[in-house]
Amino acid sequence: MKLPFVTLDQVLEIVKTHPTPFHIYDERGIRENARRLRAAFAWNPGFKEYFAVKATPTPRILQILHEEGCGCDCSSLTELMMSKAVGITGSEVMFSSNATPAQDFLYAHSIGATINLDDYTHIDFLNRLTGIPETICLRFNPGGEFAISNAIMDTPGEAKYGMTRAQLIDGVRRLSALGAKHFGIHAFLASNTVTDEYYPKLARILFELARQVRAETGAHIAFVNLSGGVGIPYREDQRGNDIAAIGAGVHKAYDEILTPAGMGDVAIYTELGRFMLAPYGHLVAQAIHEKHIYKEYIGLDACAANLMRPAMYGAYHHITVLGKENAPRDHQYDITGGLCENNDKFALDRMLPKIDIGDYLVLHDTGAHGFSMGYNYNGKLRSAELLLCQDGSVEMIRRAETPRDYFATFDFTHLFDNID
Ligand SMILES: *Cc1c(COP(=O)(O)O)cnc(C)c1O
Repeated sequence: MKLPFVTLDQVLEIVKTHPTPFHIYDERGIRENARRLRAAFAWNPGFKEYFAVKATPTPRILQILHEEGCGCDCSSLTELMMSKAVGITGSEVMFSSNATPAQDFLYAHSIGATINLDDYTHIDFLNRLTGIPETICLRFNPGGEFAISNAIMDTPGEAKYGMTRAQLIDGVRRLSALGAKHFGIHAFLASNTVTDEYYPKLARILFELARQVRAETGAHIAFVNLSGGVGIPYREDQRGNDIAAIGAGVHKAYDEILTPAGMGDVAIYTELGRFMLAPYGHLVAQAIHEKHIYKEYIGLDACAANLMRPAMYGAYHHITVLGKENAPRDHQYDITGGLCENNDKFALDRMLPKIDIGDYLVLHDTGAHGFSMGYNYNGKLRSAELLLCQDGSVEMIRRAETPRDYFATFDFTHLFDNID
């Protein structure tokens, strides 16, 4: 059974200060998981996780992960700024972006981030802006389909990211001529994988490529960046990834491919987002309406603006009715938000205990790509983010938006002085 990391009693206490809906994160879970990841790759002295900031762009979360040895993987100017603001700069920042604006490259350069080039043409683009740094990364796209044991995981050939093998090898030559000395190779070939085989398979592809690049260009390969894509079990019946087995699988590939090639100094980097945070976040909402028409509906005070994944991808998020953890799931509901969009449903035909108005519901696994994908459609305001600290106390790490925030980007804000 999937159980929340907060109880009804805790939530009843929290809502005295912080009304629903809110996102809440579990500091202990985040730290313990980060330590498991580090232990799984401890065999590689240069190992580093660059947390994918886009998954949970919240300063306090970045700080906690930094204390556990993680850096930041940024995809935009403001993510770079947030990283710098919490004191994460230089080689602790990876900048993996695409269709990158000039000002983003300039800022990444100014804080000493390692730049991961998405395309061959970005070499000259960057060179004109800042020159080429000594350490630089290139993003690879092998094209075609990416399969593990005959199961197609994704189709890189349809993805906009990265460069071809020929471009990558040419790119390393051109970058060397422009002054680069140490190279990284990066690829992201499948998202939310729930198999221990993904990283080892990807590592084999990138280690072979690294060996060929070295052989053909003589360039020093300093690191291989396995990027994100290690998933989590959103469904109750799924088995989670075993990060120790994943680390061991990458180790085996390393010993078979890189070590014999005299490349035993290559560091392994990861840019995990979902794996680092998703299970350690909940969206907590209250049932405020029930409706009986052709189906049974429960209306929450949260909506897709707080958690977009179900509406956008039809994604499954497990739901617990707090205080009814052990009650029989003998009622079938659609659980909805209040957007004027019929896809604003957190769950379809879900079997749950009988829900009463006023019940608190936990939507599980919202710690990554949850709050961060929020938006303001229908004038809905973003919720607060809370941290359940290791000592059991609750810290507000982002306040909820107010109507004034919503109006702040108009230049006639004074017209709204009377709205309260
Ligand atoms: C989104 C993203 C990640 C993180 O992906 P997860 O699925 O959250 O692990 C890492 N690197 C890059 C370049 C990304 O775009």
